[in-house]
Amino acid sequence: MANRMRIAMAAVGLLLFGLALGAYAQTPAFHDIRPGYGVTAIGWLSDYHPPLRGTPGDSRVYILDSGVPGGTLYVQGGTHGNEIAGVMAATILVERAIPTVGRIIVVPHGNNANVDYNDGYRSGVPSYVTIEVQGGVPRSFRYGSRRTNPAYEAEPDPDIYVSPDGGVHEGNEIRNLNRVHPGKPDGTLTEQIAYAIRQLLIEENVDVAIDLHEAGVNSRLANTLVAHERALEAAVYAVLDLSAQGLHFNLEPSRQEYRGLSHREWGDHTKALAFLTETANPGQTDEYTAPDVVNDPKNPLHDRVGRQLAAVRAIVDAAVLLGAPPVSYEGVPTYADLVRDGLGPWLNAPTAQP
Ligand SMILES: [Zn+2]
Repeated sequence: MANRMRIAMAAVGLLLFGLALGAYAQTPAFHDIRPGYGVTAIGWLSDYHPPLRGTPGDSRVYILDSGVPGGTLYVQGGTHGNEIAGVMAATILVERAIPTVGRIIVVPHGNNANVDYNDGYRSGVPSYVTIEVQGGVPRSFRYGSRRTNPAYEAEPDPDIYVSPDGGVHEGNEIRNLNRVHPGKPDGTLTEQIAYAIRQLLIEENVDVAIDLHEAGVNSRLANTLVAHERALEAAVYAVLDLSAQGLHFNLEPSRQEYRGLSHREWGDHTKALAFLTETANPGQTDEYTAPDVVNDPKNPLHDRVGRQLAAVRAIVDAAVLLGAPPVSYEGVPTYADLVRDGLGPWLNAPTAQP
């Protein structure tokens, strides 16, 4: 009897341990992001689609409200977790931007379920990058993957994936956030993330939406701005503005056949002007065997983040010039600031800023 009791207790113990492990595995990843004075509220993607709550797909939403009526700008990094210039540009907005008119909503990790996964898109690159900050211990940032960790999806990849609006993709693209827009409320985890983002854009009345990406340094897409047709005129202005600063960006119109991509579906399914930026990441370049994604001499991270932030600024200015509700902000480094200083002084350190 005593033995049977012990076995029963052990079984209950194992069960509880398993449940605890399960609950642990289902917690969204947290990141070292240190919100600055501009942040007035912090929410979750699950605020816009409650079934995401408690899943690895949930992600922080930072709201920076000036209190002055105007438009709403949405900036998303981390659609692809290996495209870290977008993650870092979004992080700097959260830590540094002070909105003066309208609101900025920032999601640094658009797909938070790809940050702990290593696929072929992260070969030769460690799972974290480290950046020195002033007067403090270095800060670490996740270097994730292009696709959702398959452990977080209930079903294995299909042979062919058809996106909600009929785009036909390779099966593993079912875990690529930028193939599954505008998402499905009852779809896969990745589709539900896309759905939550769509709901955010609609419920927050977003006027301008920017999805920050990177491509390999020899890719056609490196240093490109992609724009939905309603956003194309603003994109032309933005590219000219960037060119005048010495920053060359190719301009590419979103095409109808780009089903499932953010610039296509956000533009078609919400009122937002939809843009996608790409900088040149040595970590995504097949020819490099041991890429240095932070200190590459040609395309260092601070340079790429400077380009991303300059593109965000140029897009907002152009959209407002052409009639979008006003949004403005200060406190964010220019491209020249980042070339001069590197990233360190623009990331919040544990000690007070000088
Ligand atoms: Zn990308």
